[in-house]
Amino acid sequence: MPMSSVSSHPVLVAGGGIGGLAAALVLARMGHGVTVLEQAPELGEIGAGIQLGPNIFKMFAYLGLTDKINAQAYFPPAMGMRDVCTGEQIVRVQMGDAARAAYGGFAYGVIYRKDLHDVLLDACRAEAGISLRTHAKVDSFTQDAGSVTVKLHDGQTLQGAALIGADGLWSNIRQTIVGDGKPRVSGHIAYRAVLKKQDVPPELWNDEVQLWGGEKTHLVTYPLRRGELFNLVAVFHSNKYDEGWDTFGDANELTERFKNAHPTVKALLGKINAWKMWVLCDREPVKNWSQGRVTLLGDAAHPMLQYLAQGAGQAIEDAVVLGKALEHSKGDFASAFLQYQDKRYLRTARVQLTARMYGDIYHASGAARELRNSMFQSGSESAGFAGLKWMYDGIDPNTLFASKA
Ligand SMILES: Cc1cc2nc3c(=O)[nH]c(=O)nc-3n(C[C@H](O)[C@H](O)[C@H](O)COP(=O)(O)OP(=O)(O)OC[C@H]3O[C@@H](n4cnc5c(N)ncnc54)[C@H](O)[C@@H]3O)c2cc1C
Repeated sequence: MPMSSVSSHPVLVAGGGIGGLAAALVLARMGHGVTVLEQAPELGEIGAGIQLGPNIFKMFAYLGLTDKINAQAYFPPAMGMRDVCTGEQIVRVQMGDAARAAYGGFAYGVIYRKDLHDVLLDACRAEAGISLRTHAKVDSFTQDAGSVTVKLHDGQTLQGAALIGADGLWSNIRQTIVGDGKPRVSGHIAYRAVLKKQDVPPELWNDEVQLWGGEKTHLVTYPLRRGELFNLVAVFHSNKYDEGWDTFGDANELTERFKNAHPTVKALLGKINAWKMWVLCDREPVKNWSQGRVTLLGDAAHPMLQYLAQGAGQAIEDAVVLGKALEHSKGDFASAFLQYQDKRYLRTARVQLTARMYGDIYHASGAARELRNSMFQSGSESAGFAGLKWMYDGIDPNTLFASKA
């Protein structure tokens, strides 16, 4: 990844999550010094699973991370949906080789968040140009024609050639650039838990990604980490909570929400002693998330509900496109950041808005539920993939900025 102008100041990246580390890696490989500023005392990820579509595996291939990811991931043979009350199969789509064949050789996989974060962290640590700082909360920034100055919560200031706000859903940096206040609380709550394989009775274990969809509720399960772990995410509608990311959930509320569920679902939920909770939020899409030498990336730019399992993947795509834009603009950050957002906002807006729609489909009730079931059941297995082809086909980094003949 060549570049023609490297500043004496590092590029500052606010946030050491999946998006921030991916951006740091891309920029360091282009020859930029990078300082990652993470507010938490340690760099890490919460314990939960994450699905990775073929578009994300395409990015891993581009970044040379495929083998490291494959060593940690699990590749489900199929993905299916059942009615949460009756257990009736609504749709089942072959994954594995079928997904690879449909998407240019790229797989559909699932991974433990920590394992994905560790792969990125190890790759960052292998780059001499990356400095990783913890206890470094970015409060605000100012910029002039030649640099950006960041103010940390402890009062320190740091100068950088540019600033990338990869500081997630509640991004401070977004408030200066976009200024759209707090995220939209969707009213949907996710409870998550991960079990060891030996703690899941064989009759409850399922090798596939299984979604149990019901009225205002659903449960997703799949194995993780080469099949050594089992991931559960239960989602339901509740207005009880405002916001939150990593607090304990109320098991009684969950039991109440799933009281009419199929016995297998109830048995699965009964295996969990303590649930961690996410209050699910997103934002309306915007088309401008850059200001001079400052831009946003990942959830800070385009937070989305998890119903298409794409947030982390879109953050990684952002990082790759940001690098290509910088290469194309020969190191001119302000120009690169505008080109980067222009290449990204329609695709990420489409994922944001389609994800909301998929939430409605999973949680349908009454006639809508019957319509969903009959439409899905009448389609061929591969039809389930066809509707999301625009997303899973992904982007081609090498042609994004190719000049037209
Ligand atoms: C229930 C659920 C399921 C999901 N499932 C999937 C899935 O299957 N597939 C998928 O691709 N995505 C999934 N996602 C989405 C995915 O988790 C996010 O899109 C992804 O984590 C975004 O990464 P990020 O780096 O942009 O932000 P984050 O992961 O939020 O990282 C932001 C980082 O910035 C730090 N930070 C925040 N503020 C500051 C500050 N002021 N200064 C310094 N540091 C700061 C934070 O501590 C954090 O480390 C899911 C999300 C949820 C809630």
